[in-house]
Parts: sequence; C-alpha cells; structure tokens
Amino acid sequence: MKAIAIIPGRPDSAGVIDIPEPPLADGEILVRTKLIGICGTDVGIARDGYGSPPPGEEQLVLGHESLGEVLEAPQGSGFAPGDLLAGVVRRPDPVPCGACAADEWDMCRNGRYVERGIKERHGYGSERFRVDRRFAVRVDPKLGDLGVLVEPTSVVAKAWEHAERIGARAWFDPKVALITGAGPIGLLAALLARQRGLETHVVDIVDSGPKPKLVTDLGAHYHSVPIAELDVSPDIVIECTGVGELAIQAARSTSPGAVVALTGISHSDRALRTHPDELNRALVLGNKAVFGTVNAARRHYDQAADALLGADRGWLASLITRRLPPADWPSALEKRPDDIKVVIEVAR
Ligand SMILES: [Zn+2]
Repeated sequence: MKAIAIIPGRPDSAGVIDIPEPPLADGEILVRTKLIGICGTDVGIARDGYGSPPPGEEQLVLGHESLGEVLEAPQGSGFAPGDLLAGVVRRPDPVPCGACAADEWDMCRNGRYVERGIKERHGYGSERFRVDRRFAVRVDPKLGDLGVLVEPTSVVAKAWEHAERIGARAWFDPKVALITGAGPIGLLAALLARQRGLETHVVDIVDSGPKPKLVTDLGAHYHSVPIAELDVSPDIVIECTGVGELAIQAARSTSPGAVVALTGISHSDRALRTHPDELNRALVLGNKAVFGTVNAARRHYDQAADALLGADRGWLASLITRRLPPADWPSALEKRPDDIKVVIEVAR
C-alpha cells in the first residue's frame, strides 16, 4: 500500500512510498485512512530533522493527525465496520514510568515513549492502518471529515484542562482569555475559550486573510498589535506561537493569579535582551503560573471530540483551507499565506 513518507531533515526526500500492509502488532482494529492533517510538527520533521524513523529504518511514514473508517474490528472492541475514528499519537514507554502507568503518557518522565508519525513509529499516513482500541478515539459521524481536527484539538483540550487545574489551586473565576497566534492551534484554543463563556482576545501579526474573520465569527476579539498595547488583563493565556518573547510579554500582561500555558515551540536561536529580575518579580508578586504543555492523554482526545461536536460545523470546515491528493502532499510543507489547516485526502 501507499504511504506518505520522508527522511527527517531532508525535505527533498518527501514522497509516496510502498510499504507492507499494517502489522497486527499495531492493533486489533483495521482502518481505511481518509484524511491526514499536516501541522508545524511535520514541517519541523522535514526541515529541522525533528523526530526519528523506527530503529533500523531511514524513512518515517508521517501522519499524526488522522481520520479513518473502520474496516475490521473484533466483537467487543466498541468499534464496528463503518465507524469513524482518530488515532492517539503517543504510546506509553515500556518501563513504564509512573505517568505512563497512569495512562498519562503525555506527561512521560523518562522520554522512552514513542509517537506515531513523529518518534520511532510510523504514522497513520498510509492507505490503511491498525490501532488498538485503547488508542482509538471515536468520531461522531455528524463530524465526518472534521474528525481530522480531533488530534490538534486534543492538544488545546489538555492546555485548557491543565490551566484550569492549576488555577484551581486557589480561588479562581476566570473571565478573560488571551490567545497568542491565530493558526490552527490558536483558533481551536479560542474555540474552547468561547465554549467556556470567556471574553476571548486573539493576537496575531496579520491583519488580512481568513484569520480575523474566523476569530470574530467565534464572538472573540481579534488584534494585530503587540501584546503590550492591548488593554486587557487576561486570567488565562494560551500561547500558541512558540515565540519566547511573546511568552514573556504574555506572562507580564496577565492579571494577578493568572495562568499562562505555553503550547508552541520554535527552533530559532534569536537572542533577546530581557530583565529576568523584573519577570521574576511579576510572577512572584502576582502569584502567576507559567507552564509548558505538549501532546495529550486519552481523556483529552475524548474532550476534543466532544468540543468539536459542540462547535459550529461551518466554522470548523473553514479551518480546512487546502486538500491535497497524496501525490501532492509535499506541497503541504510549504506554508501559504491563507493556509490554516492543510489535509491530505488519502481516500474519499
Ligand atoms: Zn513514561
């Protein structure tokens, strides 16, 4: 069968390859792949050599954002042919560490986890894949193709859940949210903010293209000015750009007792003159919490599927701005100005 694959760090190697049918060891449920979403992580794999193929192999099958239709599932698995599902990305480490033993593989302590389509395991980007029921997330048929958004939404569902848990260490009654970055993660973070009834502000550098309208369609406020010029005091910040300077500005801009979730990474080595004592004072005297978050546990995928089901489907559909046949998938690695989410149509 065909698969979309790359040698990490070699964008010129991106292409379609032939691989054997998915091994039974991958799981009891056989799935026909419908859509694969491409995100910044895939670009990082291609360009920066982030991630790694399975041991002894040179190429990595990509695809950690998946949507497929069940072809075969054993009785009692909770799935039947025709059901839609999305696959979980991470697999617990074999030790397992305490976090992995508690099914919180997103919090793995020893780094020996593997990730489909990213770290030492092939992704879902082949015509068929197998997955165990434990790592299969049910997608309501009402969502259809929008189920490909379950994985990126799981990342923001975790950020929101953890931010609220940290906030709840003391009296916490958040009213205002600030989201930095209006890419797919930022827009989905804004969706979850609005679903919580928060006054929501989104900042991004662009002032044209689809982003401003996508934000205002949520009932949120769009700003293309520096954070320091915003007249808002957020209780929760979800930082989605990975720009370190924005993380520091966001931490400074918050209300006392605020929680700042950092969800992005960047690979630049840009230096910044900063005043660590001033930042330290702001965090201490404001009882502020800044935390990093990556990946998602199983429950966050289920929270994501619920959040998507509760969202306006027309709005969700407008996040998918390009659909490519598998042969053209390498062009998904080139960011176009109006791109939000680019997906590969493995099968219709
Ligand atoms: Zn672990």
